[in-house]
Amino acid sequence: AGDSGVRWDKGVCRFCGTGCGVLIGTKDGRVVATQGDPDAPVNKGLNCIKGYFLSKIMYGKDRLTQPMLRMKDGKFDKNGEFAPISWDQAFDIMAEKCKATLKAKGPKGIGMFGSGQWTVWEGYAASKLMKAGFRSNNLDPNARHCMASAVTGFMRTFGIDEPMGCYDDAEHADGFVLWGSNMAEMHPILWSRITDRRLTGKDVTTHVLSTFDHRTTELADNTLIFKPQSDLAILNFICNYIIQNNAVNEEFVKKNVNFKKGVTDIGYGLRPNHPLEQVANNNGYPGADGKPKGNPNNSSPITFDEFKTFVSEYTVEKASELSGVPKENLLSLAKLYADPKKKVVSYWTMGFNQHTRGTWVNNMIYNVHLLVGKISEPGNGPFSLTGQPSACGTAREVGTFAHRLPADLVVMNPKHREIAEKIWNLPAGTIPDWIGSHAVRQSRDLKDGLINFYWTSTTNNMQAGPNINGETYPGWRNPANFVVVSDVYPTVSAVSADLMLPCAMWMEKEGAFGNAERRTQFWRQQVKAPGESRSDLWQYMEFSKRFKVEEVWPAELLEKAPQFKGKTLYDVLYANGEVNKFPLSELKKVNEHGIKNYTNDESAAFGYYVQKGLFEEYAQFGRGHGHDLALFDNYHKARGMRWPVVDNKETLWRFREGYDPYVKKGEGIKFYGHPDGKAVIFALPYQPAAEQPDKEYDLWLCTGRVLEHWHTGSMTRRVPELYKAVPDAWVFMNPEDAKKRGLKRGDKVKVISRRGEITTLVETRGRNKPPVGLVFVPFFDESRLVNKLTLDATCPISKETDFKKCAAKIVKA
Ligand code: SF4
Repeated sequence: AGDSGVRWDKGVCRFCGTGCGVLIGTKDGRVVATQGDPDAPVNKGLNCIKGYFLSKIMYGKDRLTQPMLRMKDGKFDKNGEFAPISWDQAFDIMAEKCKATLKAKGPKGIGMFGSGQWTVWEGYAASKLMKAGFRSNNLDPNARHCMASAVTGFMRTFGIDEPMGCYDDAEHADGFVLWGSNMAEMHPILWSRITDRRLTGKDVTTHVLSTFDHRTTELADNTLIFKPQSDLAILNFICNYIIQNNAVNEEFVKKNVNFKKGVTDIGYGLRPNHPLEQVANNNGYPGADGKPKGNPNNSSPITFDEFKTFVSEYTVEKASELSGVPKENLLSLAKLYADPKKKVVSYWTMGFNQHTRGTWVNNMIYNVHLLVGKISEPGNGPFSLTGQPSACGTAREVGTFAHRLPADLVVMNPKHREIAEKIWNLPAGTIPDWIGSHAVRQSRDLKDGLINFYWTSTTNNMQAGPNINGETYPGWRNPANFVVVSDVYPTVSAVSADLMLPCAMWMEKEGAFGNAERRTQFWRQQVKAPGESRSDLWQYMEFSKRFKVEEVWPAELLEKAPQFKGKTLYDVLYANGEVNKFPLSELKKVNEHGIKNYTNDESAAFGYYVQKGLFEEYAQFGRGHGHDLALFDNYHKARGMRWPVVDNKETLWRFREGYDPYVKKGEGIKFYGHPDGKAVIFALPYQPAAEQPDKEYDLWLCTGRVLEHWHTGSMTRRVPELYKAVPDAWVFMNPEDAKKRGLKRGDKVKVISRRGEITTLVETRGRNKPPVGLVFVPFFDESRLVNKLTLDATCPISKETDFKKCAAKIVKA
């Protein structure tokens, strides 16, 4: 504490996956200021505009501070008004509804939805509760909407998830290629590192590909505005160019790469009877002909020559015709990748991932880097960015997806389930052997009455999910369902639920996030949560006490673990083994390298160091298997560490000798995610989008974010400065398109798709400049829910929604 009486401690930004370090200033039990942490390697003291206002996100006037249930005449009523109740009453009705559902439908009847905004231990505790406690894999994070395609892309090409490089690449590259990433607004601090390199390095160039001009294209040496979905053709053209110009790194390819042809008849992940669905293959749905289709994940080996023939049709003429990008811009881009003297980093985020061929485009950018061997070394590599602060740490590494377990293990693999059951000290057969419903499917299941008890947290799916009129809202309001939302504010989701639970947020609890460069970062609890608010971690652990194991497990499973008879799920999941191993005295170690008089509300409530126990148990999954995490206490000292962390040493570049502890001397490169140590180049074609503009709906609609607001704006819209900077989501359109419709800037219009309509104002100037035929609407504005319009088409492999393209029209309101 300085003279001002403000106590400063290290923390992590609450918003994007860049993962900037911040210093947190507290006084009188309140966070009063934040500043960029000068010792944080990610941001070196800088923050973006959102980061500078972090101190205000917890203090919106409408914080939820008490559980609120829809009631009429003193009883729960689905159509009643929200009224305050106690936590006991809240857990009573939740347990009643959950038990009734389990009795009637079994574990498939319940579902949970979380996010990459959960802290690492919250996601881990939720996963244990659902997958082991309730024995239901119907758990998914909203990261499904955000970077599931990056996950499946990594798994298919490399057999292991997450980028091989790190942010230090930005200081080494000669060329930066941004694929559908408006980094200047979405990852501004990383963008500042790139602009620094671009403006100070010799002959450094930036190439920006997008479907419209934006702030990132302002610094581009080569701007490529392409027609939606044609990135597939551009990527194949680059491979063809590299091969035709003898730029293949033959030695690298021979040693490190296999070639495969993927299944291409994969549909659009819509419901099977949807008019736009052709070959439905969505998590077990049959095709339009009623027959089950092959696995979209399957592939078969091909030779390099077959790959060469496959991409040979993607000439510069064809790529230019399909994409609308002038040939010289395409050639300039291809030359950068092909030039052996230039180091290149490719970055992408939602432009690639939110795509009905999202897995493919991820695979195809790896094709490019692998062909020229520009990978896994300083300044060379493909790098997928994340939107949420712990999309990597919690959604991916903890494995909160419906098909996953921690450290890249999957529920469909019996050996993987066995590993998890052993670490969890549970009988064989506890974890179910079926893939749960993913985010979009959960909404459909709720609408169809297949899921009846549903609990969502740290996310706002009623604003962020696709086609909310058609699928999400009807599911939540289905009279057969009971929907619980844990949140900080009365979001669109919270007020659409039956029960709202008030949450502790960010610095009101001890936390850990994992950012996009594999960096795990911790913070200490700084202040108390208001009123009755409690962390998600406390909620899961406390709720688990309401269930006797006999009530949720079948007798044959309980027979295998007679010691659990008469116990609660809490006893079995959280007081059984590693989790309660660390006594409260361990908290003193946190004091030693941080703030004094440290408090930790969960540990105080449960009587042991909860976070440490959960983390050390979770870390067992990855240690020795390429996902090594450091010891818990070390993270309280460090400004984060990038895994694998072996002997407390982080890894900057994976798969490369000299950097990665898993690559032995003499091995050079080893893509050890696959048993043969090789990566895969996939032959995949261009295919058109699920829905395209036509005579009636004559515009492409693209959605996304703006710098000042994060996601659905539930936090940033409550910061007065950020709200005033951008209060409303207008529709950005080309002046020619406006003129053609008799519109001008500021006119009130309706944006209409086949699924719904919203009213907003026209913007023909400013930061986003769409080409003729495309409009852009940000999704942060809860008074204009653009996701009433979007289509729930997904990548059939990753199940990630395509928010970047559907057909819409605009008329004067
Ligand atoms: Fe850094 Fe992202 Fe936070 Fe901005 S929002 S300060 S870029 S982590």
